[in-house]
Amino acid sequence: MKHMISILGSTGSIGRQSLDVIRKLRFGVSALAADSNVNLMEKQIREFVPEIAILRNEKAAAELRVRVFDTKTTVYGGENALIEAAAVGSAGTVITAVVGTAGLKPTLAAIDAKKRIALANKETLVCAGHIVMSRAAEKGAEIIAVDSEHSAIFQCLMAGRKGELKRILLTASGGPFRGKKRKELADITKEQALRHPNWSMGAKITIDSATMMNKGLEFIEAMHLFGARPEQIKGLVHPQSVIHSMVEFRDNSVMAQLGVPDMRIPIELALTYPERHDAVAPELDLTKLGALTFEEPDEDVFTCLKLARELAGRHDVSCAVMNAANEAAVSLFLEDRIGFLDIYELIKSAVDKFGGSAAGSLEDILDADTEARKFVFGRV
Ligand code: NAD
Ligand code: MG
Repeated sequence: MKHMISILGSTGSIGRQSLDVIRKLRFGVSALAADSNVNLMEKQIREFVPEIAILRNEKAAAELRVRVFDTKTTVYGGENALIEAAAVGSAGTVITAVVGTAGLKPTLAAIDAKKRIALANKETLVCAGHIVMSRAAEKGAEIIAVDSEHSAIFQCLMAGRKGELKRILLTASGGPFRGKKRKELADITKEQALRHPNWSMGAKITIDSATMMNKGLEFIEAMHLFGARPEQIKGLVHPQSVIHSMVEFRDNSVMAQLGVPDMRIPIELALTYPERHDAVAPELDLTKLGALTFEEPDEDVFTCLKLARELAGRHDVSCAVMNAANEAAVSLFLEDRIGFLDIYELIKSAVDKFGGSAAGSLEDILDADTEARKFVFGRV
């Protein structure tokens, strides 16, 4: 039977690369969902002919419906449609590639429908990791990481048994401002922050890489995915982005996963696991690499990473608040309304104000998320 996939966030960076993998592996598409890009969604519908296509923006969805009237695809609009797209019956796997907390409810819907989750949307685990992971265990839904570091850790862990893990070495490129002093970051422009040295990604994650909040989010993501304690995870700057992360076992044997920096490698594995299929991305030429280097992350400069690491073990809403405040602050930075260093200051103030309440239920988390956003947008 043909392997059928749904993609939430199909017009984005991960979404487009996922469709390239699907094209090359000759898998099928059940549902495509995105925010508002009518032109690209029309193209994707004509090539992949999904059962349903969703645009969150209702006006864009209405225009798309007219444009693809001659195809077999049914178009829906609105936020709730994203949740329905996540549960479409024919799909075996759902790729979660929307940005931010918007991915949380659809991910839970896909878990309830017992889909395999190819998880790119790390924010879902940062804000509600314990709820998502326990729901997945209860329903028997597999979660396979698309994030390159977590795909690497997943692969390295195959070399040992549960209980034999000593440490996860979570690698980071260090972003475009590696080696800078904190005061040198004050006047950073959006254009400078959007220039990542190794990876081409969506705007939000590119800014997260520049502040190193991305590594902070990934720290928390790793904790939830692999049941690791915060003290078992160590961030390590590796500017070449060739080793995508490592695992150290109790006998001090270290396993690493290497590959070119191309997200199609972890996307492909998340779709084909437990098998491996022919390569979609180019091979790694070790003779052309030169040196692979490693250094400690500078947490005095990259304070977002320090904050995330400190909050990681807490059981209250602080990670959800940090995540939501970060999303809001990054969007303000992208609109040139705040400076680069204000991102951290706004997040820290939001965490101090709202971080202490209990995270018992999904509602607690979503309420904290809303408060944190309101607070950040209210400060400018
Ligand atoms: P992107 O901005 O390029 O794409 C986001 C996609 O989600 C777009 O299709 C957009 O239309 C859609 N979308 C956004 N908000 C939506 C909403 N409310 N409803 C419906 N659709 C919505 O982002 P990206 O870089 O592809 O990142 C996607 C996710 O994957 C993020 O969580 C990111 O952290 C993670 N991730 C990305 C990369 C990468 O290389 N780009 C690597 C690892 C993890
Ligand atoms: Mg990553």
